[in-house]
Amino acid sequence: MDFELSEDQRAFQHSARDFAANELAPHAAGWDEHGTFPKDTIRAAGELGFCGLYSPEQWGGLGLPRLDAAIVFEELAAADPSTAAFITIHNMATWMLTMNARDEVAAHWGPLLTSGEKLASYCLTEPGAGSDAGSLRTTARLDGAEYVLNGSKAFISGAGETDVLVVMARTGGAGASGISAFAVPGDTPGITYGRKEQKMGWNSQPTRGITFENARIPAGNLLGNEGDGFKIAMKGLDGGRINIATCSVGAAQGALNAAQRYMHERKQFGKSLAQFQALQFKLADMATELVAARQMVRLAASKLDSAAPDTNVYCAMAKRLATDLCFNVINEALQIHGGYGYIREYPLERLLRDARVHQILEGTNEVMRVIISRRMLEEDALDRIR
Ligand SMILES: Cc1cc2nc3c(=O)[nH]c(=O)nc-3n(C[C@H](O)[C@H](O)[C@H](O)COP(=O)(O)OP(=O)(O)OC[C@H]3O[C@@H](n4cnc5c(N)ncnc54)[C@H](O)[C@@H]3O)c2cc1C
Repeated sequence: MDFELSEDQRAFQHSARDFAANELAPHAAGWDEHGTFPKDTIRAAGELGFCGLYSPEQWGGLGLPRLDAAIVFEELAAADPSTAAFITIHNMATWMLTMNARDEVAAHWGPLLTSGEKLASYCLTEPGAGSDAGSLRTTARLDGAEYVLNGSKAFISGAGETDVLVVMARTGGAGASGISAFAVPGDTPGITYGRKEQKMGWNSQPTRGITFENARIPAGNLLGNEGDGFKIAMKGLDGGRINIATCSVGAAQGALNAAQRYMHERKQFGKSLAQFQALQFKLADMATELVAARQMVRLAASKLDSAAPDTNVYCAMAKRLATDLCFNVINEALQIHGGYGYIREYPLERLLRDARVHQILEGTNEVMRVIISRRMLEEDALDRIR
């Protein structure tokens, strides 16, 4: 067991840190305030390989392990969790497409997506099917050489601005086994995008509902086989959960760094804040919890990399733990800033608003507990998860 980063991992970390410092940090507050989706910056991230970090090299990705991808995402999120989180969703959808599409579809979209020239959305949630995603009702009916899509999706990150949608839709009967996945060009006739949601955070990326009304796509755009869609969606989400957890770790690191600096700068009662033991202890707990969260996320990533049978449980554990602990770390960092933490001149309130949704999406933290406890109560589970 080696907990040190390799030279290559350090190199990725440094290039992500430089990119975050130069291309994200100076603009993050403005993008948040004006609701700007920074496509050019995402494209620039693509030039460094950050839009296809773990997608196959055959289609332009870097083919990296999830652990390495997590190291990159963490650095981006320390400056701008919202834009970093969109980049992670794009990576997830790009991986799903390039791993499961027929060669001609992967050959078309793969290089465009991994380079960041085109962007992808992940479309699972529906107005009536959130946590219970297996009950989704959007249909895809085979009609000759085309599938015809009807139904609606809710809360889709990037929708309206992305070029291809990875859509889960029902081709068979009720339940998860009746679901298939498709690569759907975003400008397909019959697709309409809802209004841009007004959100608490994640303001540098649009979130919209999508309606499909007799939207026709080539039958060859099916990902995998009919009935594979839910499995493809859940496999994507295992990695997605590591990614979102990583965005929380990054945001918490950004907040902790700010708090450390501020404790030296700010004076009250004739002393710097760094001299108050109550705040020293707070800082110690924040650092401890942040390191615990990071290690849990890296453990889950290494489980995914080695295709361990309990990967799914570890991804759920990591997502639950890291998004909860890191939200608290950010909140404590805000508290250390006093009133200044609450105003926009400092990044704390933005980091807090951005990180809050990580406890909700890619499966809520209650659903993470459902996944973990279900496995723990299986007959052969005693001693397995330890
Ligand atoms: C900003 C944003 C971006 C998003 N981006 C995407 C995207 O790109 N693609 C996509 O497909 N989806 C996306 N989502 C949707 C997100 O994944 C869902 O919101 C989430 O899965 C929860 O579904 P829901 O909102 O319908 O809540 P519900 O499922 O209605 O849950 C409501 C509450 O009940 C709890 N609950 C539900 N079932 C159980 C249970 N069995 N046991 C205990 N508690 C339970 C939940 O934890 C929650 O607290 C996004 C959401 C947001 C807010």
